[in-house]
Amino acid sequence: MLRRFSSQFLGMNSAVVYQGNTAYLVDPGVFPWEIERIERFLEKESLSHLTVLLTHTHGDHISGWHRFRKHPTYGHRAIQSKPLAMRENDLKYLKGMWRKQGIEELDQLAFPEPIHYLENGSLQPIPPYSFTLYHVPGHSVDMSVIIIPEEEMIFSGDMLIQTPLPFILHSTYQYWHSLKLLKQLVHQYNLRCLVPGHGKPAKTQEEILRRIEHERHYLRQLVWQGIKYARAGYSGDELRQQLYQLYPDNSGFHPHQTNVQTFLRELDLWLAKENFNWEME
Ligand SMILES: [Zn+2]
Repeated sequence: MLRRFSSQFLGMNSAVVYQGNTAYLVDPGVFPWEIERIERFLEKESLSHLTVLLTHTHGDHISGWHRFRKHPTYGHRAIQSKPLAMRENDLKYLKGMWRKQGIEELDQLAFPEPIHYLENGSLQPIPPYSFTLYHVPGHSVDMSVIIIPEEEMIFSGDMLIQTPLPFILHSTYQYWHSLKLLKQLVHQYNLRCLVPGHGKPAKTQEEILRRIEHERHYLRQLVWQGIKYARAGYSGDELRQQLYQLYPDNSGFHPHQTNVQTFLRELDLWLAKENFNWEME
């Protein structure tokens, strides 16, 4: 069974997958009253055998971890190599989020440690379910998806989130390959339920594949146009402004400008990919 908790912070999803007295808690967060809601649910359902799973370690996704730290936590191996400076930055960002809500007690917030690290595709059984993680860098350096094969369910972290566009902070090049891997995983595990890190779940395989295709289309467009303008002689500020105009900023959360900046940091890499294969099969 699945219970989803949606945060007031950009609809960040926490989720509990449970049966009997066993529960997996994915990305507990964000604000104290939201974490308490999860705690009350676990108590009401007598879910005493708890395992915490993390998709990645951005502030909103690790916010509530400190409240569940006595339970075993699992994450992808990629988290382990995340540099100290980045960890501290995530924590700083998280504290800022709490402070904006007028919360003063910030000392309890912590970067999750220790974590049991898992390698790509290694299946961890904690009956009645099991779970497996795959590294899908691009949104962040440590981003991973969590699959629960028995439920044909995937937690995609901050990929396939339901904003108009994907949100690519770390690498457009890696994001592309992660989309490709995601598509393979959908078929390999016959996935039918997707819970993204923010916004509405997708409840059919068709819908999951549609979201992958949507992000693929956007990213290909961004890179193609970027390469085209660069080859036409645009550079620096001019090139950036041209690319911003592909998706003019409208109000609300709109990550296109961030994606453009990520792309421009990788421009030389993309320009070197003359015969890049944009197919996914
Ligand atoms: Zn994130």
